[in-house]
Amino acid sequence: MTVSEAMEAIPLSRTVLKSIRSAASHERQRAMRDLDPYDYVACWTEAESIDGRDCDALVFILATKGCSWALRSGCSMCGYTNDSSSRATDESIWSQYQKATKNLKDQRVVKIYTSGSFLDTFEISHQLRTKILSDLYPRVDEVVVETRHEYITEKNLADVLQFRQKLMLAVGLESSNDKILNYSVNKPSNYAHYLRATRTAAEMGFRVKSYLMLKPPFVSELDSIEDAVKTTEEITSYTDTVSINPTNIQKDTIVELMWRKGNYRPPWLWSVVEVLRRTHHLDRRVLSKPTGAGTIRGAHNCGKCDDRVMEAIADYSVHRDISSLEKVQCECKSVWKSELAISELSQPSYPADYRMKIAKWSGSIAGI
Ligand code: SF4
Ligand SMILES: [Zn+2]
Repeated sequence: MTVSEAMEAIPLSRTVLKSIRSAASHERQRAMRDLDPYDYVACWTEAESIDGRDCDALVFILATKGCSWALRSGCSMCGYTNDSSSRATDESIWSQYQKATKNLKDQRVVKIYTSGSFLDTFEISHQLRTKILSDLYPRVDEVVVETRHEYITEKNLADVLQFRQKLMLAVGLESSNDKILNYSVNKPSNYAHYLRATRTAAEMGFRVKSYLMLKPPFVSELDSIEDAVKTTEEITSYTDTVSINPTNIQKDTIVELMWRKGNYRPPWLWSVVEVLRRTHHLDRRVLSKPTGAGTIRGAHNCGKCDDRVMEAIADYSVHRDISSLEKVQCECKSVWKSELAISELSQPSYPADYRMKIAKWSGSIAGI
């Protein structure tokens, strides 16, 4: 039985959800690093492609007041509250933006990340987002903004409609399985919400990039591969690009807590390769840019092959040449295969076990 089949069999439990939400909030409150509202968090240039052609992308993270959901509870893997500033204003965020775009030279793509959602007016007002997009629009070919899909509504997007030809909306779906979304990721939304939002985006002429989480907590490595492949297959009609995001250990999160207690290992890079390989036939760009890969907090292999496998994943993500993935080899691949088999035996994702694990974990958090 796959994780999806197994989880279909259990109803969502309000009690379990409540435990997860309060546990997430508990971890989150330990964080709350308050950044300088006039300084952007990070800025770098990375390889990209547009219409199959190589180019560079300028990426920057702006410190906003933070994700509304993270301030109430937050997703199990997300440490973005560490990158926010409670004193951020339109004026200070504009100043961050101006500093970051001093690095805009001949990059054709700009990716604007915030510590939450670009389209949430709690973080970035209507006036500020149109000011930013008006400034960027004539200067680049594509602007990618991240947002929770709850903010993709006709009303909320009315003022950015004029930018739709170059605007890509990047949304964190994580999984098409509502049980995983609720119990593992602690998302406040479900798959139906995502479908509704992406239909709205498509009807309005926006392109969509969807993030999927590889190896959420309580899901075995093998099941997480199956879930990522299944979700990718299911959403090809609703998204232009799929990004496979292997979980990394971010500070002050539920995932970090589990990792510290020895209950969680980030996914193997081989698992990323496997998902990309199995979704290669699909008529959509499926890529992966793992954060923190090759470190103990990120997706990693044996240490000897990590750089080579990361290069293969990066190369495939830009060029979609399957041979980059097929030619990379290491003896640790057999260890990964054995661990997949063992993880399936020791971490069966059948309903009772899933619920028991959450109950145990919620109890251990309450006892901190
Ligand atoms: S992953 Fe996105 S929605 Fe979830 S807490 Fe982080 S910023 Fe908010
Ligand atoms: Zn290896």
